[in-house]
Amino acid sequence: MVPFPQPGSCLCGDVAYRLGEDPLTLYVCHCQDCQRQTGTSFALSMIVRQEALRLERGRPREYSVEMPDGRLKRSNFCDRCSTRLWGPSSIAGLAVLDPGTLDDTSWLRPVGHIWTRSAQPWVAIPEGPLRFEKQPRAEDWPAFVRAWKNRAADAHA
Ligand SMILES: [Zn+2]
Ligand SMILES: [Zn+2]
Repeated sequence: MVPFPQPGSCLCGDVAYRLGEDPLTLYVCHCQDCQRQTGTSFALSMIVRQEALRLERGRPREYSVEMPDGRLKRSNFCDRCSTRLWGPSSIAGLAVLDPGTLDDTSWLRPVGHIWTRSAQPWVAIPEGPLRFEKQPRAEDWPAFVRAWKNRAADAHA
């Protein structure tokens, strides 16, 4: 496991932060919103405690977009280079970090895949219990947290 804190920053470097502790989980979202938002094929979502994120430099700007179904998509990005950094989770006290902004991404191994029904056809999704065609239900999420924890324990063994 990597030591904490782990540093991260936007593309231009105006905004820098530290992640102070191991995240709660890490998964891939293949939904069309994520494809559009990133402009690529999927998004990596790292769930962290809001308190674990410390801004070291700069001031990210917040955006808020209301989706047709009423959901609010909120996040923060660098004003200069537009790199998206993190946003609030729908669960109070948690944040969703875009972990590609970490300096060291070598330890990122997502434990699950969601919205697989809209995954781009060339993307190979590994077999495993944490594959969901659509949005997981609230009661499915503890398994994501357990899988991440167990993965850390496996790495120690
Ligand atoms: Zn920037
Ligand atoms: Zn998504």
